[in-house]
Amino acid sequence: MSQTASSFENYKMKQYIERLESKKSFNGATCLVSLYMPPGTSIPDVSQQLVEERGTAANIKSKATGKAVIAALSSILSRLKLIQEVPKNGLAIFCGMTESGKVEYTAITPPEPLSRKIYVCDSRFHTEYLKDQLEEKDQFGLIVVDRESAAFALLRGNHLSHLRNVTSFVPGKHGKGGQSQRRIQRGTELLAQEHLKKAGETANQLFLDKEDLKGIVIGGPAMAKDHFVNGNYLDNRLQDKIIGVLDIGYTGEEGIRELMDKSTELLQNVRYLEEKELVQRFLRELGTDSGLAAYGQKEVLRAIELGAVDTLLISEELDVIQAKITCQQCDYERVENIKGKKFADFESDLVNQHCPECGSPKLTIEETNDFVEEVGKKAADISAEIEIISTDTEEGSILFKSFGGLVALLRYPIRNL
Ligand SMILES: [Zn+2]
Repeated sequence: MSQTASSFENYKMKQYIERLESKKSFNGATCLVSLYMPPGTSIPDVSQQLVEERGTAANIKSKATGKAVIAALSSILSRLKLIQEVPKNGLAIFCGMTESGKVEYTAITPPEPLSRKIYVCDSRFHTEYLKDQLEEKDQFGLIVVDRESAAFALLRGNHLSHLRNVTSFVPGKHGKGGQSQRRIQRGTELLAQEHLKKAGETANQLFLDKEDLKGIVIGGPAMAKDHFVNGNYLDNRLQDKIIGVLDIGYTGEEGIRELMDKSTELLQNVRYLEEKELVQRFLRELGTDSGLAAYGQKEVLRAIELGAVDTLLISEELDVIQAKITCQQCDYERVENIKGKKFADFESDLVNQHCPECGSPKLTIEETNDFVEEVGKKAADISAEIEIISTDTEEGSILFKSFGGLVALLRYPIRNL
Protein backbone atom coordinates (compact mmCIF):
# COMPACT_ATOMS: atom_id res chain seq x y z
CA MET A 1 0.00 0.00 0.00
CA SER A 2 1.24 3.46 -0.76
CA GLN A 3 1.88 5.80 2.10
CA THR A 4 -1.23 7.82 2.74
CA ALA A 5 -1.02 11.56 3.07
CA SER A 6 -1.00 12.99 6.55
CA SER A 7 -3.98 15.00 7.69
CA PHE A 8 -1.82 18.09 7.51
CA GLU A 9 -0.77 17.51 3.90
CA ASN A 10 -4.41 16.97 3.05
CA TYR A 11 -5.41 20.08 4.94
CA LYS A 12 -2.96 22.29 3.08
CA MET A 13 -3.52 20.69 -0.31
CA LYS A 14 -7.26 21.19 0.09
CA GLN A 15 -6.60 24.90 0.50
CA TYR A 16 -4.44 24.99 -2.62
CA ILE A 17 -7.07 23.17 -4.62
CA GLU A 18 -9.81 25.51 -3.40
CA ARG A 19 -7.70 28.45 -4.46
CA LEU A 20 -7.07 27.00 -7.90
CA GLU A 21 -10.72 26.14 -8.33
CA SER A 22 -11.84 29.65 -7.56
CA LYS A 23 -9.64 31.14 -10.28
CA LYS A 24 -11.19 32.23 -13.52
CA SER A 25 -9.31 32.80 -16.71
CA PHE A 26 -8.67 36.25 -18.13
CA ASN A 27 -11.85 37.33 -19.99
CA GLY A 28 -13.05 33.72 -19.84
CA ALA A 29 -10.45 32.68 -22.41
CA THR A 30 -9.24 29.12 -22.83
CA CYS A 31 -5.80 29.88 -21.50
CA LEU A 32 -5.32 28.11 -18.15
CA VAL A 33 -2.89 25.24 -18.39
CA SER A 34 -2.99 22.20 -16.11
CA LEU A 35 -0.03 19.91 -16.49
CA TYR A 36 0.38 16.63 -14.62
CA MET A 37 3.72 14.88 -14.76
CA PRO A 38 3.87 11.42 -13.17
CA PRO A 39 7.08 10.15 -11.56
CA GLY A 40 9.78 9.46 -14.10
CA THR A 41 8.49 11.96 -16.66
CA SER A 42 11.31 13.26 -18.82
CA ILE A 43 11.61 17.03 -18.47
CA PRO A 44 13.12 17.49 -21.97
CA ASP A 45 10.20 15.53 -23.50
CA VAL A 46 7.59 17.63 -21.71
CA SER A 47 9.42 20.82 -22.62
CA GLN A 48 9.46 19.72 -26.25
CA GLN A 49 5.70 19.11 -26.13
CA LEU A 50 5.09 22.53 -24.60
CA VAL A 51 7.22 24.20 -27.25
CA GLU A 52 5.02 22.52 -29.89
CA GLU A 53 1.83 23.61 -28.09
CA ARG A 54 3.20 27.13 -28.01
CA GLY A 55 3.74 26.98 -31.77
CA THR A 56 0.11 25.90 -32.26
CA ALA A 57 -1.13 28.67 -29.97
CA ALA A 58 0.12 31.24 -32.47
CA ASN A 59 -2.70 30.07 -34.76
CA ILE A 60 -5.50 30.60 -32.24
CA LYS A 61 -8.17 32.85 -33.77
CA SER A 62 -8.47 35.22 -30.86
CA LYS A 63 -5.21 37.13 -30.66
CA ALA A 64 -5.69 37.82 -26.94
CA THR A 65 -6.25 34.14 -26.13
CA GLY A 66 -3.27 33.11 -28.24
CA LYS A 67 -1.07 35.57 -26.40
CA ALA A 68 -2.31 34.38 -23.00
CA VAL A 69 -1.65 30.72 -23.87
CA ILE A 70 1.82 31.57 -25.14
CA ALA A 71 2.52 33.50 -21.93
CA ALA A 72 1.42 30.55 -19.78
CA LEU A 73 3.48 28.03 -21.72
CA SER A 74 6.55 30.27 -21.70
CA SER A 75 6.22 30.70 -17.97
CA ILE A 76 6.07 26.92 -17.44
CA LEU A 77 8.98 26.35 -19.82
CA SER A 78 11.21 28.81 -18.02
CA ARG A 79 10.52 27.08 -14.71
CA LEU A 80 11.02 23.60 -16.09
CA LYS A 81 14.54 24.69 -17.04
CA LEU A 82 15.28 24.94 -13.33
CA ILE A 83 14.13 21.40 -12.59
CA GLN A 84 16.46 18.45 -13.07
CA GLU A 85 13.83 15.78 -12.62
CA VAL A 86 10.27 15.53 -11.34
CA PRO A 87 9.91 14.78 -7.59
CA LYS A 88 9.26 11.22 -6.51
CA ASN A 89 5.47 11.54 -6.61
CA GLY A 90 5.47 13.63 -9.76
CA LEU A 91 4.53 17.26 -10.19
CA ALA A 92 1.32 19.10 -11.03
CA ILE A 93 1.63 22.56 -12.54
CA PHE A 94 -1.16 25.09 -12.94
CA CYS A 95 -0.36 28.20 -14.89
CA GLY A 96 -2.17 30.86 -16.81
CA MET A 97 -3.47 34.38 -17.04
CA THR A 98 -6.23 34.73 -14.48
CA GLU A 99 -8.91 37.37 -14.01
CA SER A 100 -6.28 39.51 -12.35
CA GLY A 101 -4.57 39.90 -15.72
CA LYS A 102 -1.43 38.32 -14.31
CA VAL A 103 0.11 34.98 -15.23
CA GLU A 104 -0.11 32.90 -12.08
CA TYR A 105 1.95 29.81 -11.47
CA THR A 106 1.36 27.09 -8.89
CA ALA A 107 3.30 23.85 -8.61
CA ILE A 108 2.09 21.09 -6.33
CA THR A 109 4.01 18.03 -5.27
CA PRO A 110 1.26 15.52 -4.60
CA PRO A 111 1.22 13.34 -1.48
CA GLU A 112 0.79 10.23 -3.62
CA PRO A 113 2.25 9.39 -7.02
CA LEU A 114 0.43 10.81 -10.02
CA SER A 115 -0.66 8.02 -12.31
CA ARG A 116 -0.73 9.64 -15.74
CA LYS A 117 0.48 12.52 -17.79
CA ILE A 118 -2.21 15.10 -18.47
CA TYR A 119 -2.10 18.34 -20.41
CA VAL A 120 -5.24 20.47 -20.50
CA CYS A 121 -5.70 24.04 -21.64
CA ASP A 122 -9.10 25.33 -20.57
CA SER A 123 -10.89 28.30 -19.03
CA ARG A 124 -10.43 26.72 -15.59
CA PHE A 125 -7.74 24.77 -13.80
CA HIS A 126 -8.29 21.03 -13.73
CA THR A 127 -7.65 19.94 -10.16
CA GLU A 128 -9.86 16.86 -10.20
CA TYR A 129 -6.94 14.45 -10.60
CA LEU A 130 -5.34 15.83 -7.45
CA LYS A 131 -8.61 15.77 -5.60
CA ASP A 132 -8.67 12.01 -5.93
CA GLN A 133 -5.71 11.99 -3.58
CA LEU A 134 -7.41 14.05 -0.95
CA GLU A 135 -9.37 11.18 0.45
CA GLU A 136 -9.57 11.34 4.20
CA LYS A 137 -7.83 8.52 5.96
CA ASP A 138 -10.54 8.09 8.55
CA GLN A 139 -13.41 5.88 7.58
CA PHE A 140 -16.82 5.40 9.08
CA GLY A 141 -19.09 2.44 8.59
CA LEU A 142 -22.74 3.16 7.92
CA ILE A 143 -25.41 0.51 8.39
CA VAL A 144 -29.07 0.95 7.65
CA VAL A 145 -31.15 -1.91 8.91
CA ASP A 146 -34.84 -2.67 9.00
CA ARG A 147 -36.82 -5.88 9.34
CA GLU A 148 -35.99 -7.37 6.02
CA SER A 149 -33.14 -5.43 4.49
CA ALA A 150 -29.79 -4.03 5.44
CA ALA A 151 -27.45 -1.73 3.55
CA PHE A 152 -23.76 -1.17 4.24
CA ALA A 153 -21.50 1.64 3.17
CA LEU A 154 -18.18 3.25 3.97
CA LEU A 155 -17.80 6.97 4.39
CA ARG A 156 -14.42 8.59 3.86
CA GLY A 157 -14.48 12.37 3.97
CA ASN A 158 -17.38 13.23 1.72
CA HIS A 159 -16.95 10.13 -0.32
CA LEU A 160 -19.52 7.42 0.14
CA SER A 161 -19.04 3.92 -1.18
CA HIS A 162 -21.94 1.52 -1.04
CA LEU A 163 -20.67 -1.87 -0.14
CA ARG A 164 -23.62 -4.21 -0.07
CA ASN A 165 -27.35 -4.56 0.25
CA VAL A 166 -28.76 -7.60 1.97
CA THR A 167 -32.39 -8.53 1.56
CA SER A 168 -33.75 -11.40 3.53
CA PHE A 169 -36.12 -13.82 1.96
CA VAL A 170 -39.60 -13.17 3.21
CA PRO A 171 -42.00 -15.72 1.79
CA GLY A 172 -45.19 -14.45 0.26
CA LYS A 173 -43.98 -10.91 0.03
CA HIS A 174 -45.48 -10.61 -3.41
CA GLY A 175 -48.20 -13.21 -2.88
CA LYS A 176 -51.78 -12.34 -2.21
CA GLY A 177 -53.05 -15.57 -0.69
CA GLY A 178 -54.27 -15.68 2.87
CA GLN A 179 -52.30 -18.83 3.54
CA SER A 180 -48.92 -17.22 2.87
CA GLN A 181 -50.05 -14.26 4.89
CA ARG A 182 -50.45 -16.52 7.92
CA ARG A 183 -47.18 -18.21 7.21
CA ILE A 184 -45.39 -14.90 7.32
CA GLN A 185 -46.92 -14.06 10.67
CA ARG A 186 -45.80 -17.37 12.13
CA GLY A 187 -42.30 -17.11 10.89
CA THR A 188 -41.81 -13.41 11.25
CA GLU A 189 -39.98 -13.34 14.54
CA LEU A 190 -37.66 -16.12 13.56
CA LEU A 191 -37.01 -14.56 10.20
CA ALA A 192 -36.32 -11.20 11.73
CA GLN A 193 -33.71 -12.76 13.97
CA GLU A 194 -32.16 -14.65 11.10
CA HIS A 195 -32.06 -11.46 9.13
CA LEU A 196 -30.29 -9.51 11.88
CA LYS A 197 -27.81 -12.33 12.26
CA LYS A 198 -27.10 -12.21 8.55
CA ALA A 199 -26.73 -8.42 8.74
CA GLY A 200 -24.27 -8.77 11.61
CA GLU A 201 -22.21 -11.35 9.75
CA THR A 202 -22.13 -9.15 6.68
CA ALA A 203 -20.96 -6.16 8.74
CA ASN A 204 -18.21 -8.26 10.31
CA GLN A 205 -17.11 -9.38 6.88
CA LEU A 206 -17.11 -5.86 5.47
CA PHE A 207 -15.75 -3.82 8.34
CA LEU A 208 -13.51 -5.92 10.58
CA ASP A 209 -10.45 -5.64 8.37
CA LYS A 210 -10.79 -1.88 7.86
CA GLU A 211 -7.85 -0.48 9.77
CA ASP A 212 -8.84 3.16 9.72
CA LEU A 213 -12.42 2.56 10.77
CA LYS A 214 -13.10 5.29 13.29
CA GLY A 215 -16.71 4.53 14.07
CA ILE A 216 -19.97 2.97 13.01
CA VAL A 217 -23.32 4.71 12.72
CA ILE A 218 -26.47 2.65 12.58
CA GLY A 219 -29.81 3.87 11.34
CA GLY A 220 -33.21 2.60 10.34
CA PRO A 221 -36.85 3.49 10.23
CA ALA A 222 -38.09 1.31 13.06
CA MET A 223 -37.26 -1.00 15.97
CA ALA A 224 -35.12 -3.39 13.95
CA LYS A 225 -32.04 -1.19 14.29
CA ASP A 226 -32.36 -1.17 18.09
CA HIS A 227 -32.70 -4.96 18.17
CA PHE A 228 -29.65 -5.07 15.96
CA VAL A 229 -27.63 -2.86 18.31
CA ASN A 230 -28.80 -4.41 21.56
CA GLY A 231 -28.78 -8.01 20.40
CA ASN A 232 -25.01 -8.08 19.93
CA TYR A 233 -25.19 -9.22 16.36
CA LEU A 234 -21.95 -7.43 15.65
CA ASP A 235 -18.47 -8.62 16.56
CA ASN A 236 -17.41 -6.98 19.84
CA ARG A 237 -14.68 -5.00 18.14
CA LEU A 238 -17.27 -3.40 15.89
CA GLN A 239 -19.86 -3.11 18.64
CA ASP A 240 -17.37 -0.90 20.53
CA LYS A 241 -17.12 1.41 17.55
CA ILE A 242 -20.80 2.32 17.41
CA ILE A 243 -20.92 6.10 17.80
CA GLY A 244 -24.60 6.60 17.19
CA VAL A 245 -27.97 5.08 16.41
CA LEU A 246 -30.31 7.29 14.42
CA ASP A 247 -33.91 7.25 13.27
CA ILE A 248 -34.17 7.65 9.55
CA GLY A 249 -37.03 7.32 7.11
CA TYR A 250 -35.55 5.33 4.25
CA THR A 251 -33.89 1.98 3.76
CA GLY A 252 -31.32 0.74 1.26
CA GLU A 253 -29.03 3.16 -0.53
CA GLU A 254 -31.43 6.04 0.00
CA GLY A 255 -31.33 5.28 3.70
CA ILE A 256 -27.54 5.30 3.64
CA ARG A 257 -27.55 8.76 2.10
CA GLU A 258 -30.02 10.01 4.69
CA LEU A 259 -27.93 8.47 7.46
CA MET A 260 -24.83 10.17 6.11
CA ASP A 261 -26.55 13.58 6.15
CA LYS A 262 -27.76 13.06 9.69
CA SER A 263 -24.40 11.80 10.98
CA THR A 264 -22.39 14.93 10.28
CA GLU A 265 -22.49 16.03 13.88
CA LEU A 266 -21.61 12.60 15.24
CA LEU A 267 -18.60 12.33 12.98
CA GLN A 268 -17.51 15.84 13.89
CA ASN A 269 -17.71 14.87 17.55
CA VAL A 270 -15.27 12.03 16.95
CA ARG A 271 -12.74 14.53 15.65
CA TYR A 272 -13.44 16.88 18.56
CA LEU A 273 -12.75 14.05 20.99
CA GLU A 274 -9.43 13.38 19.28
CA GLU A 275 -8.53 17.04 19.45
CA LYS A 276 -9.45 17.22 23.12
CA GLU A 277 -7.33 14.16 23.87
CA LEU A 278 -4.32 15.56 22.05
CA VAL A 279 -4.39 18.84 23.97
CA GLN A 280 -5.08 17.01 27.25
CA ARG A 281 -2.02 14.85 26.60
CA PHE A 282 0.05 17.98 26.20
CA LEU A 283 -1.37 19.50 29.39
CA ARG A 284 -0.66 16.27 31.28
CA GLU A 285 2.97 16.17 30.17
CA LEU A 286 3.30 19.80 31.09
CA GLY A 287 1.64 19.28 34.46
CA THR A 288 3.87 16.35 35.42
CA ASP A 289 6.95 18.21 34.24
CA SER A 290 7.99 15.18 32.20
CA GLY A 291 10.02 17.31 29.81
CA LEU A 292 7.93 15.89 26.96
CA ALA A 293 5.98 19.05 26.26
CA ALA A 294 7.22 22.15 24.47
CA TYR A 295 5.47 25.45 23.87
CA GLY A 296 6.40 28.90 22.68
CA GLN A 297 7.22 29.51 19.05
CA LYS A 298 10.99 29.67 19.55
CA GLU A 299 11.06 26.57 21.74
CA VAL A 300 8.89 24.51 19.43
CA LEU A 301 10.92 25.45 16.38
CA ARG A 302 14.07 24.52 18.28
CA ALA A 303 12.57 21.14 19.18
CA ILE A 304 11.77 20.54 15.50
CA GLU A 305 15.35 21.44 14.60
CA LEU A 306 16.58 18.87 17.09
CA GLY A 307 14.31 16.27 15.54
CA ALA A 308 12.66 15.83 18.93
CA VAL A 309 9.04 16.48 17.99
CA ASP A 310 6.69 13.54 17.95
CA THR A 311 3.43 15.42 17.44
CA LEU A 312 2.99 19.06 16.59
CA LEU A 313 -0.29 20.68 17.58
CA ILE A 314 -1.18 23.78 15.61
CA SER A 315 -4.25 25.84 16.32
CA GLU A 316 -6.42 26.47 13.30
CA GLU A 317 -6.47 30.10 14.43
CA LEU A 318 -2.78 30.28 13.68
CA ASP A 319 -3.37 29.25 10.10
CA VAL A 320 -3.11 32.74 8.79
CA ILE A 321 -1.51 33.56 5.48
CA GLN A 322 0.24 36.88 5.19
CA ALA A 323 -0.22 38.42 1.77
CA LYS A 324 1.47 41.44 0.27
CA ILE A 325 -0.94 43.19 -2.05
CA THR A 326 0.31 45.59 -4.65
CA CYS A 327 -1.18 47.71 -7.40
CA GLN A 328 0.11 47.10 -10.89
CA GLN A 329 -0.52 50.72 -11.85
CA CYS A 330 0.99 52.67 -8.97
CA ASP A 331 3.18 52.21 -5.88
CA TYR A 332 0.35 51.25 -3.56
CA GLU A 333 0.97 48.24 -1.36
CA ARG A 334 -0.41 46.76 1.83
CA VAL A 335 0.03 43.63 3.90
CA GLU A 336 -2.97 41.61 5.03
CA ASN A 337 -3.38 38.56 7.20
CA ILE A 338 -5.98 36.14 5.93
CA LYS A 339 -7.15 32.89 7.51
CA GLY A 340 -6.01 29.87 5.51
CA LYS A 341 -9.58 28.67 5.14
CA LYS A 342 -10.67 32.04 3.75
CA PHE A 343 -7.80 32.59 1.38
CA ALA A 344 -9.55 31.32 -1.75
CA ASP A 345 -12.45 33.71 -1.11
CA PHE A 346 -10.04 36.52 -0.41
CA GLU A 347 -8.29 36.01 -3.73
CA SER A 348 -11.48 36.01 -5.73
CA ASP A 349 -12.70 39.12 -3.91
CA LEU A 350 -9.51 40.96 -4.64
CA VAL A 351 -10.27 40.86 -8.36
CA ASN A 352 -13.26 43.13 -7.75
CA GLN A 353 -11.38 45.60 -5.60
CA HIS A 354 -9.97 48.87 -6.79
CA CYS A 355 -6.71 50.42 -5.71
CA PRO A 356 -7.42 52.98 -2.96
CA GLU A 357 -4.72 55.26 -4.38
CA CYS A 358 -5.28 55.32 -8.12
CA GLY A 359 -8.59 53.50 -8.50
CA SER A 360 -7.20 50.91 -10.90
CA PRO A 361 -8.77 47.44 -10.63
CA LYS A 362 -5.35 45.83 -10.93
CA LEU A 363 -4.59 44.75 -7.38
CA THR A 364 -2.58 41.59 -7.13
CA ILE A 365 -1.00 39.41 -4.49
CA GLU A 366 2.70 40.00 -4.82
CA GLU A 367 3.85 37.42 -2.30
CA THR A 368 2.48 35.26 0.45
CA ASN A 369 3.90 34.02 3.69
CA ASP A 370 2.31 30.91 5.11
CA PHE A 371 3.73 30.32 8.59
CA VAL A 372 1.77 27.16 9.31
CA GLU A 373 2.80 25.59 6.03
CA GLU A 374 6.45 26.39 6.68
CA VAL A 375 6.41 24.97 10.19
CA GLY A 376 4.42 22.01 8.93
CA LYS A 377 6.97 21.24 6.25
CA LYS A 378 9.82 21.36 8.74
CA ALA A 379 7.96 19.04 11.06
CA ALA A 380 7.12 16.70 8.20
CA ASP A 381 10.84 16.50 7.39
CA ILE A 382 11.46 14.87 10.75
CA SER A 383 8.39 12.64 10.29
CA ALA A 384 6.48 14.30 13.10
CA GLU A 385 2.71 14.01 13.19
CA ILE A 386 1.04 17.35 12.59
CA GLU A 387 -2.42 18.00 13.95
CA ILE A 388 -4.48 21.06 13.18
CA ILE A 389 -6.64 21.76 16.22
CA SER A 390 -9.83 23.79 15.98
CA THR A 391 -10.96 26.16 18.71
CA ASP A 392 -14.35 24.49 18.87
CA THR A 393 -13.44 22.64 22.06
CA GLU A 394 -12.40 24.14 25.38
CA GLU A 395 -9.01 22.45 25.03
CA GLY A 396 -8.57 23.86 21.54
CA SER A 397 -9.28 27.32 22.81
CA ILE A 398 -6.78 26.87 25.69
CA LEU A 399 -4.19 25.81 23.13
CA PHE A 400 -4.70 29.00 21.21
CA LYS A 401 -5.23 31.50 24.02
CA SER A 402 -2.78 30.24 26.63
CA PHE A 403 -0.08 28.65 24.51
CA GLY A 404 -0.01 30.78 21.39
CA GLY A 405 -1.52 27.99 19.29
CA LEU A 406 1.69 26.07 18.76
CA VAL A 407 2.88 23.27 21.03
CA ALA A 408 4.70 19.99 20.65
CA LEU A 409 4.75 16.59 22.26
CA LEU A 410 8.33 15.38 22.28
CA ARG A 411 9.96 12.06 21.54
CA TYR A 412 12.36 12.39 24.47
CA PRO A 413 12.53 14.78 27.41
CA ILE A 414 14.24 18.10 26.85
CA ARG A 415 14.34 20.58 29.69
CA ASN A 416 16.16 23.60 28.39
CA LEU A 417 14.87 24.46 24.97
ZN1 LIG B 1 -2.87 51.97 -7.77
